[in-house]
Amino acid sequence: MPTLLLRNIHTLATMDGQRREIRNAGIFIRDGWIQQVAETEQLPQTADEIVDLRGHMVLPGLINAHHHLFQTLDRACQCNAGFVDWLRKLYPRWRLLRPPIVQMAVEVGLTEMALSGCTTVADHNYLWPNGLTAKHLVDTARSVGLRFHLGHGFQNISNKDGGFAPDELAESSEVALSRCAQSIEEFHDPSRGSHLQVFVAPSSIRSVTPDLLRRSADLARSMDVGFHMHLAETAGETVFTREKFGLSPVEAAHSFGCLEGKSWIAHGVHLSDSDQRLLVQTGCGVCHCPSSNMRVGAGHAPIRTYRKAGVKVGLGVDGAASNDGANLLTEARLAMLLARIAPGEVPPLFSPRNALEVATLGSAALLRRDDIGAIEVGRAADLFSINLSRPELLGANDAIAAALLCAVNHVDNSWVHGRQIVKDRALVNGNSQNLVERVQDWKTEVDAALLLREV
Ligand SMILES: [Zn+2]
Repeated sequence: MPTLLLRNIHTLATMDGQRREIRNAGIFIRDGWIQQVAETEQLPQTADEIVDLRGHMVLPGLINAHHHLFQTLDRACQCNAGFVDWLRKLYPRWRLLRPPIVQMAVEVGLTEMALSGCTTVADHNYLWPNGLTAKHLVDTARSVGLRFHLGHGFQNISNKDGGFAPDELAESSEVALSRCAQSIEEFHDPSRGSHLQVFVAPSSIRSVTPDLLRRSADLARSMDVGFHMHLAETAGETVFTREKFGLSPVEAAHSFGCLEGKSWIAHGVHLSDSDQRLLVQTGCGVCHCPSSNMRVGAGHAPIRTYRKAGVKVGLGVDGAASNDGANLLTEARLAMLLARIAPGEVPPLFSPRNALEVATLGSAALLRRDDIGAIEVGRAADLFSINLSRPELLGANDAIAAALLCAVNHVDNSWVHGRQIVKDRALVNGNSQNLVERVQDWKTEVDAALLLREV
């Protein structure tokens, strides 16, 4: 079994049970698993591969608990629209997507995630246009090398029923459930150190009927996989569920059986005290997506309050249509800053280390994984390094705090299960051939098609 020794690390943030931070640290890894974490001189001096990280800080790999990779090529689109208008205007673009285009979007999105220190991505894919299958997404994710949690999504309410999506992008309940079950059977690997998992992911309470929400939550529990949906994202959603069900979004989802089991929701911006209690009672966590919430004017999730109430909170970037940058490190920075301006906040303020915890252990808890999220013996070696001598970090007094407080756009190196995926700020596998040209060709094609439709 191959061994890897990372040594002479300037500062290591382990995020272990004691939240140890070690100077001149080293990590000894065997077959992708962390065997020892200590000062460099206390570790073995030989290994199959030795990497000297003098002048670098090392942190646990960040975990993105909510994304829509198919949206990656829709950045800076509908820039000033509010939530409903934004969604309605994006669907005409998404109905044009084809499998090779989505694969291109996934490749670009995962590359961006890897370069920002992310080592695990949960992708909520709720559209399957023009023959797209789970295999298309899985194949591309494997080629980039991050751990991949595929949310097999669906919706069964479309324009004809008052929903947001074109009719051809909605599925019948039977088709949605059987395709989702098929993805789980084919791809879900529940083992420790798994690189590929599948979870059940209805789009939202406004685009999926209560019956399908109930049945899909049952499916997730019966197959012992995660369950995930957008919930309590906008004030309009609360108006909708109050009018239709006489309940808040969280209460309604609870009444459909969506919170029990391995469930977590995206956003949770609008949660009452009793909603928070329901989430605590059921163990359902919240994936915080601050950029997206601000981008579409959805509001501000007070995550410090949630955490104090006992709600599990993780972090996600959301899709590129509502967060034009898929950078999990800067997203953690934003989460930290935003938590500081929540109403009633007083010092000591939400700290950089709190934000790091949300982006690592917090997200790992949402994905029900105890094998990633920290650098400690027995966990997988998912981690990244940042060189402290770069201009944006010069003068920093606290290396770990600086990773979150300073605007660090790229990591220098990153490993997933002990395998290096980012080296010297570039993806080891590199981008597939002509990626930039292919993206530009697609943008030209989609612009022309939309122009034709408008005419
Ligand atoms: Zn989303």
